[in-house]
Amino acid sequence: MVDDFIYLDYAASTPLDPLVAERLHDCRESVFANPSSNHAAGRISRAMIEGGAQQLAALLNVDPGTLIWTSGATESDNLGVAGAARFRSHRGKHLVTLLTEHKAVTDVFQMLEKEGFEVTWLKPDAGGCLDPAAFASVLREDTQLASIMYVNNETGVMQDIEAIGSICRERDVLLHVDAAQAVGKIPIDLQALPVDLLSLTAHKFYGPKGIGALYIANRPGCRVDPILFGGGQQRRIRPGTLPADLIAGLGLAAEIAQSRIETDLEHLGKLRRALWAAIRDVEGVLVNGDIESGFPGILNVSVSGIEGESLLLELEPICVATGSACNSKSQEPSYVLRALGRSDRLAQSAVRFSMGRPTTEADVEFAGRRYRQAVARLRDLAPEAAA
Ligand SMILES: *Cc1c(COP(=O)(O)O)cnc(C)c1O
Repeated sequence: MVDDFIYLDYAASTPLDPLVAERLHDCRESVFANPSSNHAAGRISRAMIEGGAQQLAALLNVDPGTLIWTSGATESDNLGVAGAARFRSHRGKHLVTLLTEHKAVTDVFQMLEKEGFEVTWLKPDAGGCLDPAAFASVLREDTQLASIMYVNNETGVMQDIEAIGSICRERDVLLHVDAAQAVGKIPIDLQALPVDLLSLTAHKFYGPKGIGALYIANRPGCRVDPILFGGGQQRRIRPGTLPADLIAGLGLAAEIAQSRIETDLEHLGKLRRALWAAIRDVEGVLVNGDIESGFPGILNVSVSGIEGESLLLELEPICVATGSACNSKSQEPSYVLRALGRSDRLAQSAVRFSMGRPTTEADVEFAGRRYRQAVARLRDLAPEAAA
């Protein structure tokens, strides 16, 4: 890695696995034909896409035919949520989601509200968790679709997708899951997990940016209306020329992830414990989410009397996020942390550390030390604010 910074922002994006980088490079040199073309060169591109589909299908334990390629999780979320809501709109117009979903989901629900759908916005508990019983209690006869994320990108909080999915199956409600922070990081077996639609993106698990997928379960009533129109590719569900090289890269990243998911989880658990041990004694520090459960690659902390943007400057050369990367241009407190009941001031002081495969214990110890120093320094500069 580059020496002049310490990267702890793996929830925003990950570097390419070196083997994936090599694969992309090789593919780009030799594979360029349109995979829809009926000639020898086109067949090579098609074979590459089929190989990638098999590798991703193996990671998720699904049939490769259930996977639709997209440009990433934003597009998958858009297609999964808007596409399924519209496909089923003749049956009913009630939808359910969580206040702490990614913008790629919440903004789609807001659009659907303008189209005449009715959305119930569930609030998680103070730890960020959705109680499955609370979820069940808002379902109605006309509820057609729910969207509940797997691992929250800001806090690492994990929802009980198995319980929520079982409730959805009983009530004939489709469940879409934004699994951008989960795929390749925690074991997901879609033969066992009752999920109908699942969104993922390669660049969160050491694959290339600009390629993702939407899983669409092969079940009656589980279909999506397209949101893009053009050629006949991918059964018209998502037309457009497929990038064979990116799909090959995603496939290899999925295969690598599958082979080391447990090793990665153990590594991340150690790192998160070491990081927390280094900062837990800072006065007024609080974990956003839950340190015991939740995805171990993310530690989000707030601290009283400190402002996040100044903290970020003090923390240089450590690359972390305040709030979430998507919102970091605005000074608005994170809506995710507000939904957990954090005050504006505490939400504004939030720092998200997210660790990855290349992260070392030395990295997190340095980051922890730096965090302690930064908080102390800012409190020295403005002692009156530290109330
Ligand atoms: C990163 C992320 C997205 C968006 O993925 P892109 O591939 O960047 O479009 C959506 N949802 C969650 C939870 C994410 O972490």
